[in-house]
Amino acid sequence: MPEAGPERGDWRRIVSVLSEARRVALLLHVRPDGDSVGSSLALARALAKLGKEVAVVSADDIPAALRFLPGAGELRRPEEVSGPFDVALLLDCGDLERTGPARRVADGAATVVNVDHHTSNTRFGDLAWIEPETAAVGEIAWRLVRELGVEPDLEIAYGIYTAIVTDTGSFGFSNTTPATHRVAAELLSLGVRPDEVARRVWEEKSEVSLRLLGRALASLTVEAGGRVAWVRVTQEDLAAVGASPDDAEGIVAHPRSLRGVVIAASFVEDAPRRWRVSLRSNGAADVAAIASRFGGGGHHRAAGLTLEGPFAEAARELLGACRQAAAGGGPDPEGAPA
Ligand code: 5GP
Ligand code: MN
Repeated sequence: MPEAGPERGDWRRIVSVLSEARRVALLLHVRPDGDSVGSSLALARALAKLGKEVAVVSADDIPAALRFLPGAGELRRPEEVSGPFDVALLLDCGDLERTGPARRVADGAATVVNVDHHTSNTRFGDLAWIEPETAAVGEIAWRLVRELGVEPDLEIAYGIYTAIVTDTGSFGFSNTTPATHRVAAELLSLGVRPDEVARRVWEEKSEVSLRLLGRALASLTVEAGGRVAWVRVTQEDLAAVGASPDDAEGIVAHPRSLRGVVIAASFVEDAPRRWRVSLRSNGAADVAAIASRFGGGGHHRAAGLTLEGPFAEAARELLGACRQAAAGGGPDPEGAPA
């Protein structure tokens, strides 16, 4: 276990509060990803094995690619749970507002526990444990499972492994460490099939998501001498192929793959004139810092935020900030964007 300290929080107290709790709610963040879902389902199962009453609460559906995970079918809506919980446990959630309507459950809980790895984490909650250098909260959740004294099983292993695979881009992102691989090795020893997870998570795209990708790529815009690239999916694009905003998941990987790009972005209009933005950096620029300026957050190399308004107006300032950061913090090479 890494050293405890005021900046990380109090690991011991988190372990004891969870050990003593009778009712625990695990809250997913809105638009939950593999780390949020995998870590929460795994820990929910571990706590249930200790005889606790456990609810995994989410305002949004689990994405189709993650519904293979054991326990995914037992998700509860915020309005479906009642009565106070001893602990509300938030894994992979940078700020309390990211729970959306599930926040109500946290507000009613005796103790709110915040376990996360986002640099932008707001340190909310009664107890917090933040490890920005850890690739996935799944790694921390794995440690929690062990320290709670739970005998891990294959269901727990699948949750943790999927959390790690998704947040490391299959061990391909710079956040991957020897410790990440050591945890993955333990999970494979428990029987996790890496090909099975890869196939479910990355390779089973729906036809509409491929058609949507075609439209997104047609919008590819390259700026700042090739250092900034972005794609956009409008409500019209979604309607044209019969897609939902979830079908645009992961499209930012495409502008990011362009040689020479420093910052990549995707803009998805998930409601009229509301833009979900994903930012990615090749490492030279800190996109969490940019996202935080616009009410979002994330990691140095991967961050997100939401903008409102007609696209040109909503995106103007953000794209200006991206060009500036991509130029190495100097003046924006293109001046005021169009
Ligand atoms: P993505 O672009 O995949 O949605 O998110 C990239 C990273 O930024 C993830 O770690 C995610 O948790 C974080 N993130 C995305 N959107 C938001 C947001 O609106 N607020 C905060 N605080 N973090 C976000
Ligand atoms: Mn994460």
